[in-house]
Amino acid sequence: MKQTDLTELQKEIDNAKHIVFLTGAGVSTHSGIPDYRSKNGIYNGVQESPETILSENTLYERPEIFYHFVMNNMYFPKAQPNLIHQKIAQICNKKGDLITQNIDRLDTKAGNKHVTEFHGNLYNIYCTKCHHSISYEEYSQNYIHQNCGGIIRPGIVLYDESINPETLTKSIEIMQKSDLVIICGTSFVVYPFAQLLAYSNEKAKIIAINKTEIPTPGIKQIIGDAIDVFKFLN
Ligand SMILES: [Zn+2]
Repeated sequence: MKQTDLTELQKEIDNAKHIVFLTGAGVSTHSGIPDYRSKNGIYNGVQESPETILSENTLYERPEIFYHFVMNNMYFPKAQPNLIHQKIAQICNKKGDLITQNIDRLDTKAGNKHVTEFHGNLYNIYCTKCHHSISYEEYSQNYIHQNCGGIIRPGIVLYDESINPETLTKSIEIMQKSDLVIICGTSFVVYPFAQLLAYSNEKAKIIAINKTEIPTPGIKQIIGDAIDVFKFLN
């Protein structure tokens, strides 16, 4: 990572009128939440593919498999936001928005008031039969709703489900009004999230901060751990 890159990033942030952050798992790994797409991620060694388990089909046809997978691998209720969440929150509350792929709610915990959760969040739990909202504590006991016998689920977008249309519309509006786009902690290969870039304002500057280069041509790339970058920022 070059010092000049960091200085340039700070300058772009200072000069921007409206910033959008597009974030992924790399932001939450420092809070102890494993990046399920990286080598040591939670999906390693799982017999069945996550795409199969995290589907509507498994949720309804084999609810115990779905439930044990999410409970054992995806919930980290004690996790706390780290410096990256905090600095992004600070900037967003002043002049920006965050669109995140993360479902861990840590950005909201960090006090960010402009969070769009592209894939929903794990703590928005409800009964699929009576639609009552359910607490994490209750869900952690059982996946069957005691009141009605319905299957309980988290409000995350499953692999065979589409993005909520309102979330998509809101995300596109944010992209169009932002003059600085900062991609952070994501390999940026998951669609349709990665397609959001196609909606950026034509005058917007685009900067990516990630451990590895992302496959998007023509943008500024800072290769490194996002936490080292955010430590530097004001
Ligand atoms: Zn119910």
